[in-house]
Amino acid sequence: KNLKKYFPVKGGILKRTIGHVKAVENVTLSIYQGETLGLVGESGSGKSTLGHLILKLLDPTEGKIIFNGKDITSYSQRKIRPYRKNMQMIFQDPYSSLNPRMSVGDLIEEPLILHDRLTKKERQNRIIELLHTVGLDEETRFKYPHEFSGGQLQRIGIARALSSRPSLVIGDEPVSLLDVSVQSQVLHLMSDLQIKFNLTYLFISHDLSVVKHMCDRIAVMYLGRIAEVAPKHSLYKEPLHPYTKALIASVPGVDRKREKVKLEGNMPSPSNHPAGCPFHTRCPESHNRCTVERPELINMGNDHYVACHLYTE
Ligand code: SF4
Ligand code: MG
Repeated sequence: KNLKKYFPVKGGILKRTIGHVKAVENVTLSIYQGETLGLVGESGSGKSTLGHLILKLLDPTEGKIIFNGKDITSYSQRKIRPYRKNMQMIFQDPYSSLNPRMSVGDLIEEPLILHDRLTKKERQNRIIELLHTVGLDEETRFKYPHEFSGGQLQRIGIARALSSRPSLVIGDEPVSLLDVSVQSQVLHLMSDLQIKFNLTYLFISHDLSVVKHMCDRIAVMYLGRIAEVAPKHSLYKEPLHPYTKALIASVPGVDRKREKVKLEGNMPSPSNHPAGCPFHTRCPESHNRCTVERPELINMGNDHYVACHLYTE
Protein backbone atom coordinates (compact mmCIF):
# COMPACT_ATOMS: atom_id res chain seq x y z
CA LYS A 1 0.00 0.00 0.00
CA ASN A 2 1.48 3.34 -1.12
CA LEU A 3 4.97 1.84 -1.18
CA LYS A 4 7.94 4.07 -1.83
CA LYS A 5 11.60 3.21 -1.95
CA TYR A 6 14.17 5.97 -2.39
CA PHE A 7 17.89 5.22 -2.48
CA PRO A 8 20.19 8.14 -1.66
CA VAL A 9 22.68 9.18 -4.34
CA LYS A 10 26.03 10.26 -2.85
CA GLY A 11 28.38 12.68 -4.55
CA GLY A 12 31.32 15.03 -4.14
CA ILE A 13 34.39 14.42 -1.96
CA LEU A 14 32.26 14.51 1.19
CA LYS A 15 29.98 11.80 -0.20
CA ARG A 16 26.94 13.81 0.75
CA THR A 17 23.47 12.90 -0.42
CA ILE A 18 22.92 14.89 -3.60
CA GLY A 19 19.69 13.29 -4.72
CA HIS A 20 17.57 10.17 -4.68
CA VAL A 21 16.88 7.28 -6.99
CA LYS A 22 13.14 6.94 -6.71
CA ALA A 23 12.97 3.23 -7.48
CA VAL A 24 9.43 2.66 -6.28
CA GLU A 25 7.06 5.63 -6.23
CA ASN A 26 3.73 5.11 -4.52
CA VAL A 27 2.75 1.59 -5.53
CA THR A 28 -0.46 0.00 -4.31
CA LEU A 29 -0.94 -3.54 -5.52
CA SER A 30 -2.79 -6.66 -4.38
CA ILE A 31 -1.67 -10.22 -5.00
CA TYR A 32 -4.60 -12.60 -4.70
CA GLN A 33 -4.14 -15.96 -3.04
CA GLY A 34 -3.39 -18.74 -5.52
CA GLU A 35 -2.90 -16.50 -8.54
CA THR A 36 0.12 -15.65 -10.63
CA LEU A 37 0.52 -11.92 -10.92
CA GLY A 38 2.97 -10.84 -13.60
CA LEU A 39 4.98 -7.70 -12.94
CA VAL A 40 6.32 -6.35 -16.18
CA GLY A 41 8.48 -3.38 -17.11
CA GLU A 42 11.77 -2.30 -18.63
CA SER A 43 14.95 -2.68 -16.62
CA GLY A 44 15.13 0.12 -14.07
CA SER A 45 11.34 0.35 -13.70
CA GLY A 46 11.52 -0.74 -10.05
CA LYS A 47 10.09 -4.25 -10.31
CA SER A 48 12.90 -6.07 -8.50
CA THR A 49 12.96 -3.42 -5.77
CA LEU A 50 9.22 -3.87 -5.34
CA GLY A 51 9.73 -7.65 -5.04
CA HIS A 52 12.41 -7.13 -2.39
CA LEU A 53 10.14 -4.74 -0.47
CA ILE A 54 7.29 -7.25 -0.44
CA LEU A 55 9.60 -9.93 1.00
CA LYS A 56 11.05 -7.43 3.45
CA LEU A 57 14.53 -7.94 2.07
CA LEU A 58 14.48 -4.14 1.91
CA ASP A 59 12.66 -1.64 4.13
CA PRO A 60 10.34 0.80 2.37
CA THR A 61 10.87 4.55 2.63
CA GLU A 62 7.10 4.86 3.04
CA GLY A 63 4.03 2.68 2.80
CA LYS A 64 2.84 -0.65 4.11
CA ILE A 65 3.22 -4.34 3.37
CA ILE A 66 0.20 -6.37 4.41
CA PHE A 67 0.53 -10.14 4.36
CA ASN A 68 -2.52 -12.30 5.08
CA GLY A 69 -4.23 -9.29 6.61
CA LYS A 70 -1.32 -8.39 8.94
CA ASP A 71 0.70 -5.21 8.59
CA ILE A 72 4.25 -6.59 8.70
CA THR A 73 6.00 -3.37 7.60
CA SER A 74 7.74 -2.59 10.88
CA TYR A 75 8.35 -6.16 12.08
CA SER A 76 11.87 -6.79 13.36
CA GLN A 77 14.02 -9.53 11.84
CA ARG A 78 13.00 -11.79 14.74
CA LYS A 79 9.31 -11.06 14.51
CA ILE A 80 9.39 -11.55 10.74
CA ARG A 81 10.78 -15.12 11.00
CA PRO A 82 7.46 -17.00 10.89
CA TYR A 83 6.44 -14.88 7.88
CA ARG A 84 9.72 -15.23 6.08
CA LYS A 85 9.12 -18.98 5.95
CA ASN A 86 5.95 -18.23 4.00
CA MET A 87 7.57 -15.95 1.44
CA GLN A 88 10.46 -17.00 -0.72
CA MET A 89 12.25 -15.80 -3.81
CA ILE A 90 13.58 -17.46 -6.91
CA PHE A 91 16.44 -15.31 -8.12
CA GLN A 92 17.32 -14.28 -11.64
CA ASP A 93 20.87 -15.61 -11.62
CA PRO A 94 21.15 -19.22 -10.45
CA TYR A 95 24.94 -19.02 -10.90
CA SER A 96 25.48 -16.29 -8.35
CA SER A 97 22.54 -16.92 -5.99
CA LEU A 98 23.76 -20.37 -4.93
CA ASN A 99 26.92 -20.52 -2.81
CA PRO A 100 29.46 -22.48 -4.91
CA ARG A 101 31.14 -23.91 -1.79
CA MET A 102 28.00 -25.60 -0.52
CA SER A 103 26.76 -28.96 -1.73
CA VAL A 104 23.27 -29.05 -3.20
CA GLY A 105 22.10 -30.95 -0.13
CA ASP A 106 23.44 -28.25 2.19
CA LEU A 107 21.94 -25.50 0.04
CA ILE A 108 18.48 -27.01 0.38
CA GLU A 109 19.01 -27.91 4.03
CA GLU A 110 19.96 -24.38 5.08
CA PRO A 111 16.44 -22.91 5.05
CA LEU A 112 15.13 -26.12 6.67
CA ILE A 113 17.47 -25.63 9.64
CA LEU A 114 16.41 -22.00 9.87
CA HIS A 115 12.67 -22.51 9.66
CA ASP A 116 11.72 -26.02 10.69
CA ARG A 117 12.30 -28.13 13.76
CA LEU A 118 13.20 -31.34 12.01
CA THR A 119 15.65 -34.10 12.92
CA LYS A 120 18.67 -34.66 10.68
CA LYS A 121 16.94 -37.74 9.25
CA GLU A 122 13.72 -35.86 8.54
CA ARG A 123 15.69 -33.11 6.82
CA GLN A 124 17.50 -35.63 4.61
CA ASN A 125 14.18 -37.17 3.57
CA ARG A 126 12.78 -33.76 2.83
CA ILE A 127 15.80 -32.85 0.69
CA ILE A 128 15.38 -36.02 -1.37
CA GLU A 129 11.66 -35.37 -1.74
CA LEU A 130 12.33 -31.78 -2.87
CA LEU A 131 14.90 -32.90 -5.42
CA HIS A 132 12.41 -35.37 -6.90
CA THR A 133 9.75 -32.67 -6.92
CA VAL A 134 11.88 -30.43 -9.14
CA GLY A 135 12.87 -33.29 -11.43
CA LEU A 136 16.37 -34.07 -10.10
CA ASP A 137 17.60 -37.36 -8.72
CA GLU A 138 18.61 -37.80 -5.09
CA GLU A 139 22.33 -38.21 -5.84
CA THR A 140 22.26 -34.54 -6.84
CA ARG A 141 22.56 -33.63 -3.17
CA PHE A 142 26.22 -34.67 -3.01
CA LYS A 143 27.24 -32.47 -5.93
CA TYR A 144 28.23 -28.80 -6.15
CA PRO A 145 26.71 -25.94 -8.18
CA HIS A 146 29.50 -25.86 -10.81
CA GLU A 147 28.54 -29.38 -11.91
CA PHE A 148 25.17 -28.22 -13.27
CA SER A 149 23.76 -26.36 -16.25
CA GLY A 150 21.76 -23.14 -15.78
CA GLY A 151 18.42 -24.94 -16.06
CA GLN A 152 19.39 -27.56 -13.48
CA LEU A 153 20.73 -24.85 -11.17
CA GLN A 154 17.45 -23.01 -11.38
CA ARG A 155 15.67 -26.26 -10.40
CA ILE A 156 17.94 -26.36 -7.34
CA GLY A 157 17.10 -22.71 -6.63
CA ILE A 158 13.42 -23.62 -6.82
CA ALA A 159 13.88 -26.61 -4.46
CA ARG A 160 15.65 -24.30 -2.02
CA ALA A 161 12.87 -21.70 -2.26
CA LEU A 162 10.21 -24.36 -1.64
CA SER A 163 11.96 -26.07 1.26
CA SER A 164 10.27 -23.95 3.93
CA ARG A 165 6.85 -24.63 2.34
CA PRO A 166 6.12 -21.01 1.42
CA SER A 167 2.72 -19.77 0.25
CA LEU A 168 4.05 -16.76 -1.70
CA VAL A 169 6.93 -17.16 -4.11
CA ILE A 170 8.42 -14.22 -5.97
CA GLY A 171 10.26 -15.13 -9.15
CA ASP A 172 12.60 -12.31 -10.14
CA GLU A 173 13.09 -12.98 -13.86
CA PRO A 174 13.68 -16.67 -13.01
CA VAL A 175 14.19 -17.76 -16.62
CA SER A 176 15.66 -14.69 -18.30
CA LEU A 177 19.27 -15.93 -18.10
CA LEU A 178 18.45 -19.47 -19.26
CA ASP A 179 18.67 -20.83 -22.80
CA VAL A 180 15.40 -20.43 -24.63
CA SER A 181 15.17 -24.23 -24.93
CA VAL A 182 15.11 -24.71 -21.15
CA GLN A 183 13.02 -21.64 -20.32
CA SER A 184 9.74 -23.37 -21.05
CA GLN A 185 10.74 -26.45 -19.03
CA VAL A 186 11.36 -24.31 -15.97
CA LEU A 187 8.12 -22.37 -16.54
CA HIS A 188 6.20 -25.64 -16.79
CA LEU A 189 7.82 -26.89 -13.62
CA MET A 190 6.78 -23.67 -11.84
CA SER A 191 3.19 -24.11 -13.06
CA ASP A 192 3.08 -27.73 -11.87
CA LEU A 193 4.49 -26.79 -8.48
CA GLN A 194 1.97 -24.00 -8.13
CA ILE A 195 -0.90 -26.48 -8.41
CA LYS A 196 0.79 -29.10 -6.27
CA PHE A 197 1.65 -26.78 -3.39
CA ASN A 198 -1.06 -24.16 -3.73
CA LEU A 199 1.44 -21.39 -4.35
CA THR A 200 0.83 -17.75 -5.05
CA TYR A 201 3.31 -16.28 -7.52
CA LEU A 202 4.55 -12.82 -8.23
CA PHE A 203 6.36 -13.31 -11.52
CA ILE A 204 8.70 -10.48 -12.43
CA SER A 205 9.76 -10.14 -16.06
CA HIS A 206 10.86 -7.54 -18.58
CA ASP A 207 9.31 -9.69 -21.28
CA LEU A 208 5.55 -9.75 -21.93
CA SER A 209 5.85 -12.89 -24.03
CA VAL A 210 7.27 -14.87 -21.06
CA VAL A 211 4.46 -13.90 -18.70
CA LYS A 212 1.79 -14.44 -21.34
CA HIS A 213 1.26 -18.12 -20.51
CA MET A 214 2.08 -18.05 -16.81
CA CYS A 215 -0.04 -15.27 -15.41
CA ASP A 216 -3.64 -14.67 -14.36
CA ARG A 217 -3.20 -10.93 -14.07
CA ILE A 218 -0.51 -8.55 -15.19
CA ALA A 219 0.75 -5.31 -13.67
CA VAL A 220 2.77 -3.02 -15.91
CA MET A 221 5.34 -0.85 -14.17
CA TYR A 222 6.96 2.29 -15.52
CA LEU A 223 9.48 4.47 -13.69
CA GLY A 224 8.53 3.18 -10.25
CA ARG A 225 4.78 3.34 -10.74
CA ILE A 226 1.99 1.04 -11.84
CA ALA A 227 0.75 2.14 -15.27
CA GLU A 228 -1.90 -0.55 -15.70
CA VAL A 229 -3.15 -3.72 -13.96
CA ALA A 230 -5.64 -6.12 -15.51
CA PRO A 231 -6.56 -9.76 -15.96
CA LYS A 232 -4.24 -11.17 -18.61
CA HIS A 233 -6.85 -11.53 -21.34
CA SER A 234 -8.10 -7.95 -21.05
CA LEU A 235 -4.54 -6.66 -20.96
CA TYR A 236 -3.58 -8.38 -24.21
CA LYS A 237 -6.91 -7.80 -25.98
CA GLU A 238 -7.75 -4.37 -24.66
CA PRO A 239 -4.63 -2.60 -23.40
CA LEU A 240 -5.52 0.92 -22.29
CA HIS A 241 -2.25 2.59 -21.34
CA PRO A 242 -0.15 3.81 -24.31
CA TYR A 243 2.91 2.20 -22.70
CA THR A 244 1.19 -1.20 -22.43
CA LYS A 245 0.07 -0.85 -26.06
CA ALA A 246 3.68 -0.28 -27.12
CA LEU A 247 4.92 -3.24 -25.09
CA ILE A 248 2.27 -5.53 -26.54
CA ALA A 249 2.97 -4.37 -30.08
CA SER A 250 6.53 -5.63 -29.64
CA VAL A 251 5.46 -9.16 -28.62
CA PRO A 252 5.71 -11.49 -31.62
CA GLY A 253 2.42 -13.05 -32.66
CA VAL A 254 0.12 -10.85 -30.60
CA ASP A 255 -2.68 -9.11 -32.45
CA ARG A 256 -1.02 -8.10 -35.71
CA LYS A 257 -4.08 -6.15 -36.81
CA ARG A 258 -3.63 -3.60 -34.07
CA GLU A 259 -1.90 -0.40 -35.07
CA LYS A 260 1.69 -0.68 -33.87
CA VAL A 261 2.67 1.85 -31.26
CA LYS A 262 6.41 2.26 -31.33
CA LEU A 263 8.34 3.08 -28.24
CA GLU A 264 10.87 5.84 -28.90
CA GLY A 265 13.73 6.91 -26.65
CA ASN A 266 14.61 5.67 -23.20
CA MET A 267 12.94 5.65 -19.84
CA PRO A 268 13.97 8.82 -17.94
CA SER A 269 16.43 8.35 -15.06
CA PRO A 270 14.80 7.13 -11.84
CA SER A 271 16.68 9.93 -10.06
CA ASN A 272 14.98 12.55 -12.21
CA HIS A 273 11.28 11.80 -12.69
CA PRO A 274 9.51 14.13 -15.12
CA ALA A 275 6.60 16.20 -13.81
CA GLY A 276 3.08 15.09 -14.68
CA CYS A 277 2.74 11.65 -16.23
CA PRO A 278 6.02 9.73 -15.95
CA PHE A 279 5.47 8.44 -19.51
CA HIS A 280 4.80 11.81 -21.18
CA THR A 281 8.35 12.13 -22.61
CA ARG A 282 7.73 9.08 -24.80
CA CYS A 283 3.96 8.95 -25.14
CA PRO A 284 2.48 9.32 -28.66
CA GLU A 285 -0.81 10.53 -27.10
CA SER A 286 0.67 13.03 -24.68
CA HIS A 287 -1.24 16.32 -24.36
CA ASN A 288 -0.99 19.50 -22.22
CA ARG A 289 -2.44 18.02 -19.08
CA CYS A 290 0.08 15.16 -19.16
CA THR A 291 3.09 17.40 -18.57
CA VAL A 292 1.70 18.95 -15.39
CA GLU A 293 -0.74 16.57 -13.73
CA ARG A 294 0.12 13.11 -12.43
CA PRO A 295 -2.52 10.54 -13.50
CA GLU A 296 -3.83 8.34 -10.67
CA LEU A 297 -4.59 4.66 -11.09
CA ILE A 298 -8.34 4.50 -11.77
CA ASN A 299 -10.76 1.59 -11.85
CA MET A 300 -12.17 0.96 -15.33
CA GLY A 301 -14.31 -1.98 -14.15
CA ASN A 302 -13.73 -5.73 -14.37
CA ASP A 303 -10.57 -5.52 -12.30
CA HIS A 304 -8.89 -3.33 -14.91
CA TYR A 305 -6.95 -0.32 -13.63
CA VAL A 306 -5.07 2.33 -15.58
CA ALA A 307 -3.13 5.52 -14.79
CA CYS A 308 -3.66 7.74 -17.85
CA HIS A 309 -5.50 11.02 -18.48
CA LEU A 310 -7.06 9.68 -21.69
CA TYR A 311 -9.60 7.89 -19.49
CA THR A 312 -10.53 10.74 -17.17
CA GLU A 313 -11.57 13.50 -19.55
FE1 SF4 B 1 0.31 9.40 -22.38
FE2 SF4 B 1 -0.85 11.40 -21.10
FE3 SF4 B 1 -1.75 8.94 -20.74
FE4 SF4 B 1 0.62 9.69 -19.75
S1 SF4 B 1 -1.39 10.47 -19.14
S2 SF4 B 1 0.17 7.82 -20.82
S3 SF4 B 1 1.36 11.06 -21.33
S4 SF4 B 1 -1.81 10.12 -22.63
MG1 MG C 1 15.62 -6.61 -11.92
